[in-house]
Amino acid sequence: MKIIVMKFGGTSIGTGENIRNVANIVRNSSKKGDKVVVVVSALAGVTNQLIHEAEELTKGKEGRIQEFVKELTEKHLQTIDIAIENKKLKEETKHSAKKIIEELEKILIGICYVGELTLKTKDQVLSFGERLAALIVSATLRDYNLESQYFTGKEAGIVTDSKFGEANPLMNFTTHQVIERIKPLLKKNVVPVITGFIVANQDGVLTTLGRGGSDYTATILGVALDVDEVWIWTDVDGIMTSDPKIILDAKTLTGLSYGEAAEMAIFGAKAMHPRALEPVIKKHIPVRIRNVFNPKNHGTLISEGAKVESKEVVKAIALITDVSMINIRGAGMVGAPGSYAKIFRILGKNNINVMMVSTAVSEANISIIIRNNQLERAMSTLEIALLGRDLANKITSEDDVCVIAAMGANMKGSLGVASRIFSAVAKKKINIHMIAQGSSELNISFVVKERDGPIAVSAIHEEFNLNK
Ligand code: ADP
Ligand code: ASP
Ligand code: MG
Repeated sequence: MKIIVMKFGGTSIGTGENIRNVANIVRNSSKKGDKVVVVVSALAGVTNQLIHEAEELTKGKEGRIQEFVKELTEKHLQTIDIAIENKKLKEETKHSAKKIIEELEKILIGICYVGELTLKTKDQVLSFGERLAALIVSATLRDYNLESQYFTGKEAGIVTDSKFGEANPLMNFTTHQVIERIKPLLKKNVVPVITGFIVANQDGVLTTLGRGGSDYTATILGVALDVDEVWIWTDVDGIMTSDPKIILDAKTLTGLSYGEAAEMAIFGAKAMHPRALEPVIKKHIPVRIRNVFNPKNHGTLISEGAKVESKEVVKAIALITDVSMINIRGAGMVGAPGSYAKIFRILGKNNINVMMVSTAVSEANISIIIRNNQLERAMSTLEIALLGRDLANKITSEDDVCVIAAMGANMKGSLGVASRIFSAVAKKKINIHMIAQGSSELNISFVVKERDGPIAVSAIHEEFNLNK
């Protein structure tokens, strides 16, 4: 008998049929005698829709709300129709889903009238995707004759600080509460279904763990309950040498050390939340990434002893899209202490996250990579603060770029890696706009035009024989 936390991402529960597939996976494990704690994300695409809607409503378009609520209701009711066979259970679940969406509607109207979306309110809005998903998945498990009960992350006992949008778990208190609330259910063979991503601070106010945060919920619960394994179920065979949706012959990495996997998550392999491994590393709890559509495959095992079996130094390549590059030029920055600090302070104050930086020793220009959706704000604040004040005389931006990161623990101290990467890209006649290598030497990141991204990734993938 094993205790396993199983997290199902939005890609695993996009439709009613897929939710039945998930229920089947959980039932099979239960039949074997394993105790399963289920963590779910919002149905595929729902979190993005909620963000988009909330942001549009700050412009005061109340008329939109009805249409949006109608679409969201239809989507979830249709899913319930297919996922649940038992008539009574189906109707009860539909009723509960409608009640949850009514609550969301009130918050949306509020945003519309206030015309402002704080991080705290945004977390409230985002919570509805996971709340609806947990309701439906738990009911589907009951349709499969399993006993199940659903909880929000808060009800399960996860407590965080108050950093809305990107909260940090307070592990001691969380562990105490999760043991008290969830462990007794496992003893009674009840399958708890817990919302990923959404949690709460000490005052009980809703917080979220950052985009992709359901992975983090799974590992937090795994550590709190001291489980045997955490399984992250998704729609690909595991962590791969590159995004299989871009590089068709990408290979699954069967074993990764915690360090290697964290490195890949941090540098943009979307398969996992960058901080999700923090809790399990200390407790040595193995994490497995598996494919719900191919459960025979054992996926990627992330554990203390595992590591990538490869002679090559580059082991994986990530492509990060939806980013923009800002170039700041000005002779005023040369030999002027504090000029870079000023730039970063302005960006930081405006909640703009800097993903990558590169400067030349001439000090006359600095290039910065940020998320696309922050470009407008970044440009206007930088222009107001810098132009006409002797520091910078030109600020330009490009919103059609992407970042490529080549990763591998053995890159450290290994000669000629950069030249192999850049020759492979140059052979495809692709121009590189910016380069950065941190002092960890575990990755090299560079920027190319968005249209060139997949070709550049593919060229490096081939150069380092990652498809073999
Ligand atoms: P989920 O809904 O299961 O959390 P995500 O969309 O967050 O799914 O992450 C899974 C997706 O990550 C895959 O469908 C794949 O396209 C993408 N991905 C990007 N890089 C990698 C990689 N190196 N290995 C595996 N998947 C990757
Ligand atoms: N639904 C959330 C998101 O899309 C959390 C997750 O998927 O893990 O970011
Ligand atoms: Mg994810």
